[in-house]
Amino acid sequence: MSINLKLVQFRKKIRVNQKKVIDTIIGDHSTQSCIFCGETSFLTKEHVIPQWVYNRCTKRTFVTTTNGVSQTYNKTTLPACKDCNSNILGALERHLKHEFEKTDASIQGFSNETLELIILWLQTLEYKFQVLDLRRNLNKVKGADYIPFIGKMPISMFQGSPDTSPAKVFSNLRASLKALSIKSKSKKLNSLCVIYTKNQDFHFFHASNEFIFIELAEYGVAFFFFYNRIFDDNADAIIAAREIVEDHYSDKGT
Ligand SMILES: [Zn+2]
Repeated sequence: MSINLKLVQFRKKIRVNQKKVIDTIIGDHSTQSCIFCGETSFLTKEHVIPQWVYNRCTKRTFVTTTNGVSQTYNKTTLPACKDCNSNILGALERHLKHEFEKTDASIQGFSNETLELIILWLQTLEYKFQVLDLRRNLNKVKGADYIPFIGKMPISMFQGSPDTSPAKVFSNLRASLKALSIKSKSKKLNSLCVIYTKNQDFHFFHASNEFIFIELAEYGVAFFFFYNRIFDDNADAIIAAREIVEDHYSDKGT
């Protein structure tokens, strides 16, 4: 079955089940049901960041902005049913890897169809981060000040800005799952920056509900995507992304 037909099924499953899925996750953060469709049988462990992304750099930690503390994501998994994980999202990743392999990003750009699939893929990462951050409590973070009162609260309640109330966290979660059920990403195309890279290292950083930067050294390409900002021109997004990347790496002294 083609990737497009699989994604038709994926969107349909999400549209039908999204309310139940999010209500279940909110009711029990550590629920053992598929985070995409709510299925409770044939569960598999879905990596938050797929292992092929960081093949060469398994020791790297993936930094995301939570309370100034690094969160590691390379070994973390979430429950997803076999159909969503292997059959659908696995096929999406295989399709994209094939596109990355056959495209020399320094010479030619990706087609809009491929760019829309890249956006979908980056949106699945955002949704997984949001679910994961709801499942992890702040008191599990090494090196953070331990405050018993907030120790039982999910990491997600400390992320983003300026409103990190539970109501806002939950509405972000609903919106990020819903985004996966929307076929057209054409309005978001300007928010995706494709960056050609010769770096040999994997780089990654992410701000919940704001942006993601992910560098796929193996394919000589990196992506910066603004989840909720719309740009009239891709060049404006590239300028905004460059500022964030430069700030990020100068802060870290690298
Ligand atoms: Zn599923």
